[in-house]
Amino acid sequence: MQVLKFGGSSVGTSDAILKVIEIVKARVKATPTIVVVSAMSGVTDQLILLAQTASQGNEAYKTIIQNLAEKHEAAVLALLPTPQQSGTLSIVQQLIHEIESNCENLFLQKTLTMCKQDQLMSYGEILSSKIIAAAFEAEGLDQVWLDSRALIKTNSAYFNAGLDKTATSNAIQAYFKIPTNQHALYIAPGFIASDTEGHTTTLGRGGSDYTGAIYAAYINASVLEIWTDVSGMMTADPRIVQHAKAIPKISYQEAMELSHFGAKIIYPPSILPVMHAHIPLWIKNTFEPEHPGTLIENASPKDDHYVRGISSIKDICLLSLEGAGMVGIPEFTKRLFDALSKKQINVILITQSSSEHSISVGVNLQDTHLAKIAVDAEFEQEINTQMLEPLIIEKELSIIALVGEQMRNQPGVSGKMFSVLGRNGINIRAIAQGSSEKNITAVIASQDERKAINVLHETFFEYTYKQVNVYIAGAGNVGGKLIEQIKKQLSYLQSTLRLKINIAGIANSKKQLINIEGIDLNHSNQQHHWREQLAAAPSGTITDYVTAILNNNLRNSIFVDVTPNASVADSYAQLLSKAVAVVACNKIACSSPYAHYVKLKTLARNYNAAFLFETNVGASLPIIGTLNDLISSGDKLNKIEAVLSGTLNFVFNNYAGGKDGKTFAQVVKQAQDEGYTEPDPRLDLGGTDVMRKILILAREAGYPLEMEAIVNESFLPAACFNGTVADFYNEMEKQEPHFKYLYDSAEAVGCKLKFIAKFESDTNGEGNAKVGLQHIQPSSDFYHLYGKDNLVLFYSDRYPELPMVIKGAGAGADVTASGVFADIIRAARI
Ligand code: ADP
Ligand code: ASP
Ligand code: MG
Repeated sequence: MQVLKFGGSSVGTSDAILKVIEIVKARVKATPTIVVVSAMSGVTDQLILLAQTASQGNEAYKTIIQNLAEKHEAAVLALLPTPQQSGTLSIVQQLIHEIESNCENLFLQKTLTMCKQDQLMSYGEILSSKIIAAAFEAEGLDQVWLDSRALIKTNSAYFNAGLDKTATSNAIQAYFKIPTNQHALYIAPGFIASDTEGHTTTLGRGGSDYTGAIYAAYINASVLEIWTDVSGMMTADPRIVQHAKAIPKISYQEAMELSHFGAKIIYPPSILPVMHAHIPLWIKNTFEPEHPGTLIENASPKDDHYVRGISSIKDICLLSLEGAGMVGIPEFTKRLFDALSKKQINVILITQSSSEHSISVGVNLQDTHLAKIAVDAEFEQEINTQMLEPLIIEKELSIIALVGEQMRNQPGVSGKMFSVLGRNGINIRAIAQGSSEKNITAVIASQDERKAINVLHETFFEYTYKQVNVYIAGAGNVGGKLIEQIKKQLSYLQSTLRLKINIAGIANSKKQLINIEGIDLNHSNQQHHWREQLAAAPSGTITDYVTAILNNNLRNSIFVDVTPNASVADSYAQLLSKAVAVVACNKIACSSPYAHYVKLKTLARNYNAAFLFETNVGASLPIIGTLNDLISSGDKLNKIEAVLSGTLNFVFNNYAGGKDGKTFAQVVKQAQDEGYTEPDPRLDLGGTDVMRKILILAREAGYPLEMEAIVNESFLPAACFNGTVADFYNEMEKQEPHFKYLYDSAEAVGCKLKFIAKFESDTNGEGNAKVGLQHIQPSSDFYHLYGKDNLVLFYSDRYPELPMVIKGAGAGADVTASGVFADIIRAARI
């Protein structure tokens, strides 16, 4: 014999029931079959609501009954040919009538006992099974309706009744022994049973699976099949993880752990009966019957999936008993569990600190109040004498669990689990590992549950790629180029580096385009170019943007600042302290007061989030990275000489003292038009930009320098700093003789003008820096520096006389964007 159980969604509509009939028709030919069915989807919830509404004296209960009647009658009309409808319709109406009279009583008495509630709930499965039985008959399949209330016996713990194994086994075996009871097909309602007094009981929500398992175990079936709406038990809840995959084979133990920790696909008690009877259990999809689904059997397959699946339970509350009075006294633990068990409170997880100062248990939220009263009453005396604290309660928590029998043979699984959670800023409140090491569980804030399950799934199952979620602030020159570069490189990164870049946000100073599934950059699916999408997006400030990023709480989030704004730089601390990586070409944060720079670096370290800003100096030239490598490998930097402003280099390479007819102001304008200057070119020409860069290099080399300590020998006349950018251009024209004089006096001695930054550590090890315009001789490294090139000379203990030289284009939107992009990839791979 075999048992096939069909869940609520498999019998939720007449179309679904037709699929069930097809499946059963094919299977019943082989061997006698018991078909166990759930209530039509949503019906059990409606019946619970009905019981509550009626017993509260609320007339609205009548509408609920009306809806239930319509739903079931419609199924009869759709499934049965007209001549056969009336018999089944009158069965349905009779059952609805019974529901009505039960509810009238509840309505009048205004009380609801658990016994009455179970009685009402049982109608869901009775109705569905009667209708399906009739539909089988109509298809020419003879069937016998089994009354599960008579065959499955339980105690009187209504709503969650405990199985009376002996009575049930006797009843089922006695029934099937009788020769006249032997048929090819039986239809049985799931979920329902009865107690010794004959009152209807139910087996707990989701209990139809258990009914199937009970029949299978006591008739010693060859197989139990649970037919549902997904193609097997999956590596994670498919509603949480988009890429969850069906597990082909899994052991009973593993399936039990996964379902215990929240995998709703199978009701946890259902596994034990078939496990003890060694009956293979299949999970199959009614809507994709050809898919093999999942086989649950004795052995855990020996493959490289040492983690078999991940599951989670929400609405968990952590109860902790603490106090010096607990140390070394085993009684406390026993009394705690006795107090909870007397109130039938289910303990999902236990952890105890080794000092025995505290013990924590995880329970369902709805049990919290009762648990608090029970435990505080049990320990009243100890609490009064301050040996113990009153029970501490923490809410809004979830349990996440990694399950797999092979984990015990694989070192480093929990290390990997906790480090990936930590990297994503997910705080662990408690940890438990089953002594059999079939599961590793952690308690985390509910708001982190989705993110945690996704990062764990990615770590243990998605060998194909890692997804990073990028939020870009700034959609100007550099931002625009960056997005185009990312777009071109997406498939290369995915195939070669196994990295999937999901641009989850693009914001400029006015608008914010956010899509956690990823902004469509290819303007496919009728989507417009991202610039048009951004223009049509809602307005918001940087605070709104950061709030959205933190609320989205996506795994592997990277914030990219390609703005020149202080307010954007001000948000880094908040982001880093939520483990969001920061990549910046904005120099403001790293050149802010030293204490703030250190704070950001410390936050990045503490929260394991990357904080990368290679483009702060020399666009995409490997300057900061190289310096970091020197220092971390033990070198000591003693001196830096550098041309750090592509803008100033461009300006002085193109200004010929007016000989070619171009004034200094015109050359500056050209630099701005070609995208080599800051939005306000005075930041470049006045030396501020170069000061920031040498400051950042000095700091990265380990010198605690402040901006104010840098000497700036500015060549711009003071009047240039007044007014707007337009005023600045006018003033430069007026000052043309000054610039011409600078040029001529350099030329007179055979030199070129270069704006040089210099840092040097003195004999006390203190760092000093200055920036200014210098006459450069033809013998100097700096003399042959063309276009917008930068040149950096590092003098260190390892490079004492001949410096390490880094040279190349140090400005321009394209190279800056590529440097930012490289930092994003670096951050993603940490
Ligand atoms: P039925 O009504 O057939 O009993 P359930 O709704 O009780 O179905 O269980 C099936 C659902 O369980 C799926 O639709 C899926 O959303 C959910 N689910 C949760 N975790 C898992 C998992 N690990 N694998 C498969 N499904 C899961
Ligand atoms: N109908 C019951 C419920 O919804 C039992 C089941 O579907 O398994 O909980
Ligand atoms: Mg179910």
